[in-house]
Amino acid sequence: MVALSLLCLLIVAVAFGIGLRGPMDGLEPALWLPVPLASLLTTVTLIRLSRRGGLPAESRRFWRHLSISCGCVLAGTSVNAYDTLAGGHPPTYLSTIPQIAYGGSVVMNLWAMSRLPLRLVSRGEVVRAGLDGAVVLLAAGAFSWHYVTLPVVQASSFDTAAIITGMITFTMNMVTLFAVGKVALAGRAHLAPRVLPLLTTGLIGGPAIAACQRFLLDKPWLSTAQLSVPFVMTCTLIAGYSQLNADDTVPRRQLSRRLPVWLPYLAIGGVDALLLSCLRDHDPDAMPIAVTAVLLSGLVVLRQQTVFRENDRLVARLDHGATHDILTGLPNRALFTDRLAGTMDAEENPGRRVSVALIDLDDFKTVNDTLGHGVGDALLIAVAGRLTTAVRAEDTVARLGGDEFVVILDDLEPRTAEQIAHRMIGALAEPVVADGHELLVRASIGIADGRAGEDPADLLRRADIAMYAAKHDGGSGVERYTPGMAGTVADTAALGAQLRHAITDRQMFLVYQPIVALDTGRLRGVEALVRWAHPTMGVVPPHQFVPVAERTGLIVPLGDWVLREACEQFAVWHAAHGPSSPGVLNVNVSSRQLRDAGFVDRVLAVLAETGIPPYQLTLEITESTAVSLGEAVAGLDALRRHGVRISLDDFGTGQSTLTLLHELPVDQLKLDRSFTQGTDTSRRDTMPAAVIALAKAVGLDLVAEGVETAEQAERLAHLGYRHAQGYHFARPLPAAEIDTLLASGHAELLSHLP
Ligand code: C2E
Ligand code: CA
Ligand code: CA
Repeated sequence: MVALSLLCLLIVAVAFGIGLRGPMDGLEPALWLPVPLASLLTTVTLIRLSRRGGLPAESRRFWRHLSISCGCVLAGTSVNAYDTLAGGHPPTYLSTIPQIAYGGSVVMNLWAMSRLPLRLVSRGEVVRAGLDGAVVLLAAGAFSWHYVTLPVVQASSFDTAAIITGMITFTMNMVTLFAVGKVALAGRAHLAPRVLPLLTTGLIGGPAIAACQRFLLDKPWLSTAQLSVPFVMTCTLIAGYSQLNADDTVPRRQLSRRLPVWLPYLAIGGVDALLLSCLRDHDPDAMPIAVTAVLLSGLVVLRQQTVFRENDRLVARLDHGATHDILTGLPNRALFTDRLAGTMDAEENPGRRVSVALIDLDDFKTVNDTLGHGVGDALLIAVAGRLTTAVRAEDTVARLGGDEFVVILDDLEPRTAEQIAHRMIGALAEPVVADGHELLVRASIGIADGRAGEDPADLLRRADIAMYAAKHDGGSGVERYTPGMAGTVADTAALGAQLRHAITDRQMFLVYQPIVALDTGRLRGVEALVRWAHPTMGVVPPHQFVPVAERTGLIVPLGDWVLREACEQFAVWHAAHGPSSPGVLNVNVSSRQLRDAGFVDRVLAVLAETGIPPYQLTLEITESTAVSLGEAVAGLDALRRHGVRISLDDFGTGQSTLTLLHELPVDQLKLDRSFTQGTDTSRRDTMPAAVIALAKAVGLDLVAEGVETAEQAERLAHLGYRHAQGYHFARPLPAAEIDTLLASGHAELLSHLP
């Protein structure tokens, strides 16, 4: 195709060359026939191109429009050739059909160019590109007018035909310039790399050749169209081929969406110079050029304005980014702190009541760990939306980080603030659909009330304490701060820091709760439970610091310490009491420990060093956290292969109990104390009975926890339970008391037998 097209061009060029020397005499067909042929070749190629799969839709549309444009040229040149060859008209004669066809071709061409999207993002960019284009076109127009159009018109002493021709040339120049500019700016993104220079060559070369008609006034047998059409067609055809053969249709170079920055300056400088030269020569054209220069200055001022406005918007967006959370769009901690400080400013709002509600999602970590961060993010966005709708428009809802949100409730009675907090819990109650998962969101809310003039940081800390209190009450509730809380639930940061020292300063100690055989009353084993002898707060129970240790990662060294300490104690009992010492040692481990690399090795090392056979150690994993184990299950498998036993703690309280049993390597279940103690008499046996049936079916060991009364012990024994643990038999005891127990032959426990 390309070769054929080049051949057409060659034949025409040779014939044209001959024609330049004198009349053609029979050679006319050689001038005319290749013209429609070249148009046909290009049209067919572009139609193929517009149907090629794999090209982006915008590119296909561009080539389709160009193929229609070429088709118009094909129609025009065919009729033109017929008119000249058969009708005896001069080659420059244009009957109606070619007139319409050529007009259509130009329109289609322009349409193709203008539809090439520039991918301008902001309105500012569009305006700026438009203004830049206008500046360049205006300047080029001034030159084209002054140096090309005006001399021709003046030379013909203002003949109407010359004026019209002049105007047409002028318009064509402008159109060509626009088309070249548009293709140069947009082409890179949508067209293969070599297409651009080829189309530009055609766009500039074609009209340039055509414009030479005025030098051929003495050779009426020639028309520059005969040369310019095959030239443009060949350029376009080769461009089409390079697009067809381009392997990748994605832009390779970075897309430049702007005219070079210097171009508008060059335009202004050029027109100013032109104006000065006109003034110097007393040229009558000085006036229109001066008007152009003024217009240009106006455009440039306008452009500067849009740049300034765009900059302002950018700065505002940067500001927004610094003060807002990217994920949810809510104010971030910085802005929250700022606003709270403003609200609590005693001079601005004397005596004003300010409440802060701190919201923390329950089990968000599990969502993140099991369903992935995408779902976690979607959940956070949904929660942000729900919280915002639950409060008044003037209240600030902010995200402090992670799954922690906070609301400033300004100028409200404490009662009303609490109502709003309950409304937030209500707003979260509806399941959230995140990424196709229907999730139930539960949140714990802590409220603290203050007045302007107090320390905002203190207010937030009190809300934090109240929030932890709400969490400890089982979550999904609202708790208001009371001064007594500080003593029981100290804030995470301070506690975390103290906890770090507590481990090294030997403030931690273990107590051991007996696990007994219900039939014989013999001590079957003990569960090690950690305590913290806090220097000022006294003995702190684990539910107050284990969650902090888990959140800070301190649970890993703490858990290591518990395991080693318990195993050493267990070995000491064995050495001292022989066969009457406890048969098994239960140690609690959190899922965070299991995920720690090296955990398996450390457990095995402790066993080896203390000489305890692996089957005497049972690791207890809380059912609710076992869901988030993921990869860490492999560690459990490895430990189990070495003989270490695994127990599912608080069994029956988790959400996917049966699935877990299927997926986790487990040897023992510990029936949660809420079932052991079941108060609803008609249904209290349902769960214990179901669990024992399950344990028997799957062949698992079973321990009932939290047995507090003889009646409970009896009922469990009746249901077939063989092992139990609870205050009824013994509270968690210091190691020394277990020693006494062992020395007395378990007498203390025997008295509590059912
Ligand atoms: P858990 O593993 O379910 O431990 C049993 C808890 O129930 C212990 O509370 C125990 O004192 C209590 N308990 C025992 N019998 C009865 C009873 O008859 N009635 C009632 N109401 N409670 C009873 P404790 O020692 O406060 O431990 C609380 C939780 O802290 C434990 O629950 C365990 O999940 C966690 N924990 C304790 N020590 C450790 C540890 O060393 N590491 C880890 N990761 N967690 C630990
Ligand atoms: Ca336990
Ligand atoms: Ca338990």
